[in-house]
Amino acid sequence: MTSRLAFAVAGEISVLTNYFEENMDRNKVVNLFERQLGFLVTYDDGAQIIVGNSNAVDYFDGWAGMIKRTLAHELSGTLSHPFTIDVDFQEKWIEVRVQLDNGVLNIAMPQRRLFSSTTYIFLLWVFAASTILLIIAVLFMRNQIRPIRRLAIAAERFGRGGDVKKFKVEGASEVRQAGQAFLDMKIRLQRQISQRTDMLAGVSHDLRTPLTRLKLQIAMMGDSPDIYEMKKDINDMEKMIDGYLNFVRGDGREKSVITDIAVMLNDIAISAKRQGCNVELNLNNISVCAQLRPVAFKRCLNNIVSNAAKYADFIWISLERTGDKEIQIIIEDNGPGIDEDKLDEVFRPFYRVDSSRNMDTGGVGLGLPIAMDIVHLHGGSIWLEASSHNGLAVYITLPV
Ligand code: ADP
Repeated sequence: MTSRLAFAVAGEISVLTNYFEENMDRNKVVNLFERQLGFLVTYDDGAQIIVGNSNAVDYFDGWAGMIKRTLAHELSGTLSHPFTIDVDFQEKWIEVRVQLDNGVLNIAMPQRRLFSSTTYIFLLWVFAASTILLIIAVLFMRNQIRPIRRLAIAAERFGRGGDVKKFKVEGASEVRQAGQAFLDMKIRLQRQISQRTDMLAGVSHDLRTPLTRLKLQIAMMGDSPDIYEMKKDINDMEKMIDGYLNFVRGDGREKSVITDIAVMLNDIAISAKRQGCNVELNLNNISVCAQLRPVAFKRCLNNIVSNAAKYADFIWISLERTGDKEIQIIIEDNGPGIDEDKLDEVFRPFYRVDSSRNMDTGGVGLGLPIAMDIVHLHGGSIWLEASSHNGLAVYITLPV
């Protein structure tokens, strides 16, 4: 802006200088410039100005320096005479002295001819207004982000089998839509789970009654090799049905509660010892409480530990922290282990490494699938590896 104004003022000064040089009616010209342009013009006949370094601008001169520099730039483009500029920023006056052939032309003008503070005030307003808008935007965004964060927390909790009754649909319409979709999905999933468990429970329960009747009838039929085989088959069927019922009992109906994992591992180790197994428990001084379904999770650990007790005579149980919000439980034994190519297969329901499906070792091939189901229900993961003690190592990671 100052540069535009300086361009105009430099043009006016150059016109004035030309009038003086052409010796026109000087008084008339001075009056005209005073009246129309606000210039105070005097002429010192025979005077000399010392140009020297007087037009140089110091970096510290601030606004005055800026005005001086801009006007000097414009004047040097239009005037062929030497000149000096004095800016009195306090008094708001600017004085330009031009050396003519026979004297010095003094032109004083108000500062407002060259400088306007409006621009800076405008910039200040823009800055203040943007700051206020930014604060409003941040507050507004926080309000909108909160329901999204709540939705994420609810989804995570539901994934771990937790309770999300407190979740409310709120926020902008898109966020509400996502929240409603989550609630619908939750209801559908719960319905599906309860249908599955009801059906399994029904089938298992209904099969038990005829099976008991069969058992009774066979018991009354005396002893023969055929009858022995039939008894064995019926026993196997009973075990399978028990397995089914166990599977069903580990369903999503149990409530999650804050449970101390170290205490639970300790209980499991004690009961394994009672069954005559050597158990080494290493809790690494970790005490973690997690949101768990205690009965289901204990069943999961029991399945793994009782497997180890079946195949080995020494069990190592350890608890480790693998992250800020994650723990790992490792159950190792010194038994025969499982071939590497079957490590994933054993998680399939009714899969047993012993292909003859020998029920003598007690299982029906549901122990590990049930364990995996329970771990997944808690948002964790489970996998098998070969143990450094020559047997099997079961790894369970769990978010806490
Ligand atoms: P089961 O009810 O028969 O024990 P699981 O699902 O628990 O069924 O285990 C599947 C198979 O994995 C078992 O038949 C067994 O052969 C094998 N297995 C499980 N745990 C171990 C272990 N600690 N050592 C060796 N084999 C194991």
